[in-house]
Amino acid sequence: MAEFMIEIDHLSKRFGNQVVLKDISLKVAKSNVVAIIGPSGSGKSTLLRCINLLTCPDGGQIRVGTQHLKFDGTTSCIPADRKLAEFRSNTGMVFQHFNLFPHMTAIQNVMEGMVTVRKQPKAIAREKALELLTRVGLAERANTYPDKLSGGQKQRVAIARALALQPQVMLFDEATSALDPELVGEVLSVIKQLADEGMTMMLVTHEIAFAREVADEVIFMRDGVVVECGPPAQVISAPQQAATQSFLARFN
Ligand code: ADP
Ligand code: MG
Repeated sequence: MAEFMIEIDHLSKRFGNQVVLKDISLKVAKSNVVAIIGPSGSGKSTLLRCINLLTCPDGGQIRVGTQHLKFDGTTSCIPADRKLAEFRSNTGMVFQHFNLFPHMTAIQNVMEGMVTVRKQPKAIAREKALELLTRVGLAERANTYPDKLSGGQKQRVAIARALALQPQVMLFDEATSALDPELVGEVLSVIKQLADEGMTMMLVTHEIAFAREVADEVIFMRDGVVVECGPPAQVISAPQQAATQSFLARFN
């Protein structure tokens, strides 16, 4: 039986009167890569943000690794709560717009969480940060500030920073959407490398060809529901639902 790293049960979220996630249930096997596709406004970012508790779900349950949380509408996702902080540290998140600290060099960005969250000595954090920057091909830019890095380099620093807290799961929300086309490849190749190393990942992406190549499973979302999910050979190459077919037709 497959070991599931992520289990989401009956997850729901509304903003005001708008139901953004409607009773979402899904499982992600350990070391699997799940690509989430779908039109703008379908709830893809909200789903990832719920898993990272950047958005607090209204109902349902989420398990990531050994950490489990149940939401009943009264749950608040106050960051200071220790259980929530532990839950959150199970996942590393990478955003479309990098969100690097502009006043810190690349290596300081990567060290930050290790020093402030994990209370690791600076010398050890620095050594680990350099290893991570090496892994994403940026050791020689360690002392560079974000405004002197290209978009692709910034995103690779952001990936190294997310990896620094040794998450069991990595979440990518349109990590290549803000990049110039010629810089997309270097970020995708780092993501591919993580996949090859067995990292469990969920990625919201418009890179359909990339999803077909690296994803074990593809989820098509629309209007807050999972319309269709399965291996890329099914969902991307032979979609069953009309909504999936018309969405994918745009990419052909
Ligand atoms: P996607 O990532 O698929 O484009 P989102 O998850 O960002 O979709 O958004 C889904 C819906 O929820 C959209 O209609 C969006 O306007 C709404 N939404 C997202 N975040 C908020 C928020 N913080 N407050 C109010 N509405 C929001
Ligand atoms: Mg989004």
